[in-house]
This record gives sequence, C-alpha cells and structure tokens, in this order.
Amino acid sequence: MQSVFDTNITYLKGVGPRKAELLAKEFDIRTYGDLLYHFPFRYVDKSRIYKISEINTDAAWFLLKGKVSNMKVVGEKRARFVSFLLTDDSGSIELLWFRGLQWIKKRFGPGKEYLVFGKPSVFKNHFNMVHPEVEDVTPETETVAGNRLEGIYHSTEKLKTVGLGSRGFSKIIRTLLKDTASQIDENLPDYLLEKYHLMGHPEAMVNIHFPKNPAIINKAVQRLKFEELLFVQLELLLQKKILKEKVAGHLFEKVGDAFNTFYREHLPFELTGAQKRVIREIRADLRSGKQMNRLLQGDVGSGKTLVALMSMLIAIDNGFQTAFMAPTEILATQHFNTLKKFLGNMNIPVELLTGSTKTAQRKKIHKALLNHALPVLVGTHALIEDTVQFGNLGFVVIDEQHRFGVAQRAKLWKKNAIPPHILVMTATPIPRTLAMTLYGNLDVSVIDEMPPGRKPVKTLHFFESKRLRVLGFMREQIKKGRQAYVVYPLIKESEKFDLKNLMDGYENMLRDFPEPEYHVSVVHGKMKPEDKEFEMQRFVKGETHIMVSTTVIEVGVDVPNASVMVIENAERFGLSQLHQLRGRVGRGADQSWCILMSGNKLSNEGRKRLEIMVATNDGFEIAEADLKLRGPGDIQGTRQSGMLDFHIANLAKDGEMIARTRQIALDILDDDPRLQKPENSLLNREMRQRFKGKTLWTRIS
Ligand code: ADP
Ligand code: MG
Repeated sequence: MQSVFDTNITYLKGVGPRKAELLAKEFDIRTYGDLLYHFPFRYVDKSRIYKISEINTDAAWFLLKGKVSNMKVVGEKRARFVSFLLTDDSGSIELLWFRGLQWIKKRFGPGKEYLVFGKPSVFKNHFNMVHPEVEDVTPETETVAGNRLEGIYHSTEKLKTVGLGSRGFSKIIRTLLKDTASQIDENLPDYLLEKYHLMGHPEAMVNIHFPKNPAIINKAVQRLKFEELLFVQLELLLQKKILKEKVAGHLFEKVGDAFNTFYREHLPFELTGAQKRVIREIRADLRSGKQMNRLLQGDVGSGKTLVALMSMLIAIDNGFQTAFMAPTEILATQHFNTLKKFLGNMNIPVELLTGSTKTAQRKKIHKALLNHALPVLVGTHALIEDTVQFGNLGFVVIDEQHRFGVAQRAKLWKKNAIPPHILVMTATPIPRTLAMTLYGNLDVSVIDEMPPGRKPVKTLHFFESKRLRVLGFMREQIKKGRQAYVVYPLIKESEKFDLKNLMDGYENMLRDFPEPEYHVSVVHGKMKPEDKEFEMQRFVKGETHIMVSTTVIEVGVDVPNASVMVIENAERFGLSQLHQLRGRVGRGADQSWCILMSGNKLSNEGRKRLEIMVATNDGFEIAEADLKLRGPGDIQGTRQSGMLDFHIANLAKDGEMIARTRQIALDILDDDPRLQKPENSLLNREMRQRFKGKTLWTRIS
C-alpha cells in the first residue's frame, strides 16, 4: 500500500534535488516519512516575553523586547567586540558580539524595537547576553513571539550551507505537516492507548515538532518512545519465536559417558548453583530439536568456560563435533590448554588451529575433522575459514563475542545443512535493558554467582607521586610467592608513543626488579606469536614474577597465583576494559589487589571512571555506569548493530521503558502469537512493514 509518506523528499516544496541529495547523504532522509521522524533534540521556550528586570538565573533562556542603543566598539584598529544596550520599560542589559562585528554594527536602527533571545550570563554583578538571536518586530514575529516553543534540530555543516540549519528543518517540516498532518494514522490499538494513557500518534507527531505548550512535549515524547520501543520488542520476539519454531537443530537426546565421567571423576570442585542452572538451560535447548542461540553472560572468573566445556561433552556424547572459538591466539591457546587438561584424562582428542598452525599440522587437522576423528577443535578466526570442513559440527562456543563480526558468525551457520547450536559467551556484562534490545532475539543465561572462597579484589587509585609505595608493595607480594601484572594502554592513534611507554616501563621494571632475584616478562602486540607465547608461558608457569604487557592479556588469561594488577595510565581505559583487566587477579583464594595508576591531571569523566572502579566489583553495576557515562553507541560491539538506530528512544536513559515495553510485547504475543486478533490489526500491519523483504515473516503467515 503506497502512502503519501513514501513520497520522495525531492518533491516537497522548498527541497528540490540538491537539498534532497544532501538530506539522504547526511541523515538518510529520503522520504516524507523520514523527514517527519527527524525530531527536535531540544526546545527553546519563546512562549513568553520577559521584562529585563525579571531576568534571573533560574531559566537558561529569555525572550526580551526593547530598543537598542549605546554602541560600544572595543579594540583599536581591529575591533575585538561590539556591545549594545537593550532597554525596555523595566531596565537595561548589555548585548555582546565577538564575531560578525562589521555586520552587527549596522544591524540596529535608531528608535526601533527588537525581539532578542539569549542566555544571560553574569559579568561584574550585571547580567549580559553574548551572541543573542535578534529579530525585527513585525506583525508576524509579534504574534509568534509569546506563543511558541521552538524545536531545535540536528543539522550538519553541509546542510547549513543549503539553508537547512535547525530553522530550515523547522520550515520544511512545517510545510510537510500542513499538507499531510491529516493523513497521519494511529498505529497502536485502542486498548494500549487507554491502558497506558498514551497520546494519539497523529497528535504526538505534530506536537513533537510544534508543541502547543511545554507540558505537551513530554506527553508526545513518551508516546513516541513507547511505540518505538514496543515495535522493536515485538519484532525481536517474533524473530526469536519464528527461529525457534522454524529452524531445525540437531537433537541431542542423551547425556552419556563423556559428560557423566567428567562430572563424577574429573570435575575438581562442586559446580555453583548458577553453573548448574545454566547447564540445565542449555541441556533443555539441546534436546528441543531446534537450533540453540544462547548468550551466556557472567562476570570474569564466574566459571563460564567450565559450563561451555560440559555443554560440549553433551554434544560429544551424541556423536557430534564441537568447536571453541576465541578472539586472539593467546586466548585460543589458553582455552586449548584448559580443555586439554580436562579432556586428556578422558582420551578425548583436542586440537588447536590458529593462523600460525603449520601446514602439515593443519592438513592433519582438516583430515581428522572430515573423518570424524577429531571431536574438539579450538581456535581463532582460522576456524571459520572455508577450507575448514567438519564431518558433523554440532556445537560451537564463541568466547568474547564482541570481537567477532556478525558476518563471521554467519559463516558458522553454513558449515552444515543443519546449523550447529551456538553458545556465545561474554564477560563484558551488558546492562539488562541493553541486552534485551541488543540480544533480544537470543536466549540469555546469566551466571550471577562466583565460585566459593573468592575474596573480592581490592582496588586502589594512586597518583604518579606514590609510585615508590606501589613498587614496595609489589616487592612484598612477590616475596610471598605471588606474581604481578603491569598493564599499559596501547591504542592505534598513539601506537608508537604507547609502545615506547611500555618499553620504558619494562626497562624501569628491570631496574627496580633486577635479575637474578627477579624475572620480568614482556608481551605486546608487535611481538611474533611464538615469542609472545613463550613469554606468556614463562609467566603462567611461575618462572617470571612480573608480566609487563598491553591489553593482550585483557581477556581470559588464567594465572590464579597472580595477586597484583597494576594498570598504568588507568584514566585512558574504558570502564569495561578496566573491569576485564581487574578480573585477571582474584582468581585464587588469597587477597588480590588492583592498582590504578594515573597522572595528576584527570578529566571529569576519567576521574568518575576511576571512582567507580574503586567503589564496586560488580560487573553489571559497572556496565550500567559505563552506559550512562558514554552512551550506548560506545559500548563494545554495539556499533554494528542496527538495533541502536533509534529516532527518539535512548538505550542509556530509557531502561525502565525498555523493560516495560518488553513485558507488554511478551504479554501481547502470549495472548495472540501471530497478531491475528482483530484488536491487534494495527500491530500486525506494522510488523508486516518491518519484516518486508525478510523471509522470516512470510514463513509464518
Ligand atoms: P570465566 O570463563 O567465566 O572467566 P573460568 O571458567 O575461566 O571463568 O573460571 C575461572 C576459574 O575458576 C578457573 O580457574 C576455574 O577452574 C575456576 N572455577 C570454575 N568453576 C568453579 C567452581 N564451581 N568452583 C571453584 N572454582 C571454579
Ligand atoms: Mg574465561
């Protein structure tokens, strides 16, 4: 069904081909509908003309009306600024300009009145206004003034050059609404409008752009956020339902010898309650006959790897092969060693495949895979290359999934006619509401309990001046037989500088911790893989006391004897990264420390991050704080997800509404799984639109 809102934006009065091209390029605005969803991001209140004597510090902006006099030009040959006095019958205020001076000098006529809109600031106990907006008083501005809230729109430099600054947007949207407002239809069923006291869609769409009064803005915003989030949740839940019902998965009917033997004879400790629960959840998926797509979340050290291993044993018991994929060579190697340690006792073959696996070994692995002779393969991306063919791949574990692109994961689906079950593990806790949206079409399991006997890591923040104390503390710990990490930031933009910092730090360590009493390892991304591995292993085996490195050790490395994590330039790391690093210690039963070193100069945000780290060990709390500090766009791995392109909702701020709309969507689909009831016809129509061109929906209707 063609609607007026599908009309190409070129045809709107005041737009034309040149502006249309830029609108498409800068904001992806191509149709009337797209333009209507370009909402203001804030409003300025020009709903009342104030007396100059009323100016105060309560409100940010004031609209004034008065006469302009007393031009002052400050500066000799080249003027530095120009000021005027604005006067009404209650008083005067100074207006100041530092730019556009030639123009402003001629702006005002004697004796005429002007509307002036700006933000007052205080200078020497008087109010003034810098760079206010100025308008002539005409019959039009006079009636509009005192009766308007002006929406402020995002624009870009390029759009401004063609007259589409905020005001320009406002103008074309006004034109558009004049022609089309009557054709905007409701898109939510009556029962929802009533139950949740929502403003109608047409009214909300008009008032979001041109609000009649301040109170109405909030109602329009709430309504539009509600529908946006509800539709996303309905879409995600329908996707998940359809996947579940339509995509076949390998049926793992039994739990057999491998699992049971491991559980009874080789498991060195009791599973935590959370681990048991998650294994049950996975077990239920594996015997459902449908493909499992499950996200396993759990803080660092919560025992995810073990859960993955035990799930793999179920696959093996049912005659299937398994793959375990890690984001880096070091991690893949580490996982390989862990799995080999456990599986070796049970005569279950495990191999490692990475970029640096030699050709002969690689060929051997390829052959074994096809011959069904290799039940467990651990590796990096090398695993999903097309040359790697499995006899019958049934179960895949992906560790630290944010490092893998979506496309890479899709490759896995193609390894067999029936796709393998997939367990994605992430140690970056994702705030609950963000997970609902990002992974709303996956099932989620959470390990929310640490193995018993762990002591929470103590976190301290020190400025550079306390370095000697820190070194002394490290010496103390090493004397007790413990090991320490010293981590340096390394980012692309300042790689050379960072690398030098790290090498300087390494040299200092060698000086402060001299041979033969002490041994220091160093690992960074520029080293050859085999050298890295060698240095890593020296530390893992306890042959070195200190490991100086970049964040290559960020994830997964497991050295329970390490009790100190020193993070250099800690202010340069993101919160979740700091938390990951901290997770490298505190893996044994003894007390561990995380020491955040920083320069004396800290940005507000940098200081906040360090404060949060010192205050809490809870990964989910940290993730929430991270989301608030940085906004959802910067959370690792979220950027490639189109799910975050919201017009009005904000994943960082609208957590409560996300949770609410998810529950509402669940209830609706519970009652009417295919949205076929007459009262849900509007929702059905919206979902059809959203699934257009995707095969999923056509499969069910
Ligand atoms: P994660 O992968 O979640 O970071 P791991 O699976 O690597 O955590 O587990 C961290 C450490 O805790 C490992 O040394 C592991 O052997 C140990 N561990 C796992 N589960 C338990 C448990 N239930 N009781 C005691 N130790 C455990
Ligand atoms: Mg792990």
